[in-house]
Amino acid sequence: MSSQNDGIIVILSSPSGAGKTTLVNLLSKKKNFNISVSHTTRKPRSNEINGKDYFFVNKAVFEDLIKNNKFLEYAKVFNNFYGTSKKPVIDLLSLGKNVIFDIDWQGTRQIKSQNIQYKIITFFVLPPSKQVLFERLSNRDMKDKLIASERMKDFYKDVKHWIDYDFVVINDDLNECYNEISQLIDLFLNNKKQINYNKKKISDHIKKLVN
Ligand code: 5GP
Repeated sequence: MSSQNDGIIVILSSPSGAGKTTLVNLLSKKKNFNISVSHTTRKPRSNEINGKDYFFVNKAVFEDLIKNNKFLEYAKVFNNFYGTSKKPVIDLLSLGKNVIFDIDWQGTRQIKSQNIQYKIITFFVLPPSKQVLFERLSNRDMKDKLIASERMKDFYKDVKHWIDYDFVVINDDLNECYNEISQLIDLFLNNKKQINYNKKKISDHIKKLVN
């Protein structure tokens, strides 16, 4: 059982390019949530900082961390490994700090299946349309242009996992999406058991995205 004083785990997942990282940064800034910084074997993008965006490590180091049971969860995403270190997260939660995770559906599933003692709220973030998603993926780093089409294909696989999440939100307008997530977290923190949100709108939107 979590104690009243423990922090909560907030997980945001999304198909790549739905704007989740910006939302995570906003939540951290405005609500003073701590971001869980993952380890990855992916190469850094030009704007990324080691230790802030990720801990960039090679495969041997990553495998050692797995062997030494250092990860709360880890997964292979787009041919690279990504993992959440256990200790920093548990330390923060037990100090009463809320921690926000930007991880994929595999990691979310692993964390949820561990019957962890901390409260967890999960969000799946969707893009407003396929066109906007493709533009966002193409507008990243120049090198990423080459893999935008590949990531579009992954979108159709990833989007299926919305069903595993507590809430699904559409990131059309960043501030509106942030406000929706923020309000849902506040209700959750206040132990509101029954939180209403527009499920019909979400399932209609998903039908449009996958057709
Ligand atoms: P990117 O390479 O674009 O930064 O991230 C690719 C995907 O990996 C995103 O969906 C992101 O949420 C996910 N990811 C990042 N860190 C972790 C992690 O520690 N564990 C898991 N399971 N997924 C992660």
